[in-house]
Amino acid sequence: RIEPVTAQVQGIFDRLEQELSTYRSDSTISQLADQAGVAPIAVSDDAFRVLSLARHFGELSEGAFDVTVAPLVNLYGFGKRPTPAALPSEEVIRAQLKLVDYSRLILKDGTAFLPLKGMAVDLGGIAKGYAVDRAFDSCRNAGIQDFLIDLSGNIRVSGRPQWGEDWQIGVRDPFDRSRIIGKITLRSGMALATSGNYERFVEMGGQRYSHIIDPKTGYPVTGTAGVTVLAQDATTADGMSTPFFVVGLKGADRLRQKAPSVDI
Ligand code: ADP
Ligand code: MG
Repeated sequence: RIEPVTAQVQGIFDRLEQELSTYRSDSTISQLADQAGVAPIAVSDDAFRVLSLARHFGELSEGAFDVTVAPLVNLYGFGKRPTPAALPSEEVIRAQLKLVDYSRLILKDGTAFLPLKGMAVDLGGIAKGYAVDRAFDSCRNAGIQDFLIDLSGNIRVSGRPQWGEDWQIGVRDPFDRSRIIGKITLRSGMALATSGNYERFVEMGGQRYSHIIDPKTGYPVTGTAGVTVLAQDATTADGMSTPFFVVGLKGADRLRQKAPSVDI
């Protein structure tokens, strides 16, 4: 009974990757960037939902999560372009920053539109969580009760493990990947996501920079090593781990008040 479901889940991941990836030139997200400043494009229900949720997390985090961060992601070489040898100048960063503003993304009647040429969307901070939730629904609908889905650290559980009462997830030490700094118990249905600076980073001018960018300043975030977020669904856990990483410890309380159902 498991086999057709794993094929179904793989199908969901493949389809979403095809629609939502910035790396595929034929994806919905690439078309959205191509048509920026030109015309709205029709998008699938899934793309419309993820984009709407991304806007929602942008509002909730007062812009710390910004789905239009793509020009800066590319500038530092996390996207399609190579990483520059040194940190780009203030001027260059400021020019790209003008293209970053999630509130300008227009979503209407199944279409999406970016008003300025050069604007683009990057769903890297939310799409994996969304994919996990779609896979979760598909498993539940197939009648499976006890399972865990893990898409690169975006985890959601159902029921219980074979060997115990509760699903327990170890959180790695961001300073020593071989160590576990704590275990989190997940009740059925709960999700967990981690944003860290140790898995994807670049070096510019001999310094390490994380792949998460502060949309207020335009610079990669430097003050945070890792954040793990617990939420009712994987989209929220993924969508909130990025802004918690951005605001760091000093902004965490404020963000928690805005999103009372999540735990960090
Ligand atoms: P990971 O992809 O490593 O699991 P995250 O979920 O935190 O980690 O997502 C990081 C990705 O989100 C980056 O690779 C980039 O594509 C995108 N991103 C970077 N900065 C921001 C931001 N401030 N708001 C929204 N997305 C961002
Ligand atoms: Mg995230």
